Amino acid sequence: MSKTIAVIPGDGIGPEIMTATLRVLDALDCGLSYDFVDAGMVALEKHGDLLPKATLDKIAEHKVALKGPLTTPIGGGFTSVNVTLRRHFDLYANVRPAVSFPGTKSRYENIDIITVRENTEGAYRSEGQTLSEDGEIAESVARNTRAGSSRIVRYAFELAVRKGRKKVTAVHKANILKTSSGLFLNVAREIAKEYPQIEFNEMIVDNTCMQLVMNPYQFDVIVTTNLFGDILSDLCAGLVGGLGLAPGDNIGERAAIFEAVHGSAPDIAGKGIANPCALLLAAADMLDHLDMVAKGDRLRQAIRDTMTNDRDSVTPDIGGKGSTSSFADAIVKRL
Ligand code: NAD
Repeated sequence: MSKTIAVIPGDGIGPEIMTATLRVLDALDCGLSYDFVDAGMVALEKHGDLLPKATLDKIAEHKVALKGPLTTPIGGGFTSVNVTLRRHFDLYANVRPAVSFPGTKSRYENIDIITVRENTEGAYRSEGQTLSEDGEIAESVARNTRAGSSRIVRYAFELAVRKGRKKVTAVHKANILKTSSGLFLNVAREIAKEYPQIEFNEMIVDNTCMQLVMNPYQFDVIVTTNLFGDILSDLCAGLVGGLGLAPGDNIGERAAIFEAVHGSAPDIAGKGIANPCALLLAAADMLDHLDMVAKGDRLRQAIRDTMTNDRDSVTPDIGGKGSTSSFADAIVKRL
C-alpha cells in the first residue's frame, strides 16, 4: 500500500527530529511518501503567512499530517498555528499516551495511561472570553455540547476497544460545574452503557489529580473535557518522566495531525542533540491510524530496546551521550 502524508518539519529542533523520524519510517518500509509543506516561522519568512492556504489544502488532501513543533511568535497579534490547525480541521480528539520507557528518571515504572481530551469546546473557546472596558472584569464562558461530548466519549470507548483496554474513566467537575461538566458526565454515562465489555468509572477532577499521583495504576483510558484534559495529560507525562517522550495525536473526521507534545526547543536547536522519540512515538500512533498497527508496534519496541540496551546512543536529555542521529541509527538497527 502506498500513502502520501503531509509533513511539516517545523521550527527550531523540528527539522532535526523530523529528518531522524522520516529516516526511521523509511527503514520500517511502510510505503509512505511525503509531501513537505511549510508552517510556522519558515512559512512566515517564505510566504509572509504562518499558515499558508497551500499547507491547509495539502493536509486536507492527504488527511494525515506529521508535524514538527512550531514556534508561536510572541506579541504582534499572532495566534498559535497549532490552535488554528485544530480549529480549521475540527480536530476534536487530542489523544496523549503516557507510557513509561526504560532508563528514564521518573517516580513510577510501567505506567500506561491514555488521556483523551476534548480539543474544541469547554473553557477554551475564544468566543467565550471577554474583558470589561475598564479591565476590571474578565469572563470566560465554557460551552460543552451534547454532540461534542458524545463524539469524544465515543472516541475514547472505541479506542479502548481497538487497543484492548479494560477501563475508561470520565473525569469531570459536575458537582460544582453542574451544567457544563454535568452535561459531559451525563453523556459519558449514557455512552458507557453501549460498551458493557469496558469498565466505566467516573471521577471528580481534583480527586483524579490526587489519585494519579498516589496510585496511577488504577487508570487505563481517561476521557475528559478540554481544560481538565490539558492539565491531566501533562500530569500523566510527569508520571513517566516529562514531555520528552510524549506524543500528541489530534484527530478529526476530516484530518489527523500527529506531533510531539514538546515545543521547538530554541535553546538546543541546531546542536544535533534533540531527542527524536516524542515525534517517533507520534509517528507510531500515525501508523496505527493508517491501519499499520504491526509497524507501529515494531517501532515502539525498537525505541524501547534502544533505550534499554544502547544507553550511549540516546540523547543527553534522557541521560545518554548520543545525538539525534545516533539515537535514530540505533533505533533503525533494532527495527
Ligand atoms: P519546549 O518544549 O520547546 O522546551 C522546553 C524545554 O524542553 C527546553 O529546555 C528544551 O530544550 C527541552 N526539550 C523540548 N523538546 C526536547 C527534545 N525533543 N529533546 C531534548 N530536549 C527537549 O517549550 P518552550 O521553550 O516553552 O517553547 C518553545 C516554542 O515552542 C514556543 O514558541 C512555543 O509556543 C512552541 N511550542 C510549540 C508546540 C507545538 O508545536 N505543538 C508545543 C509547545 C510549545
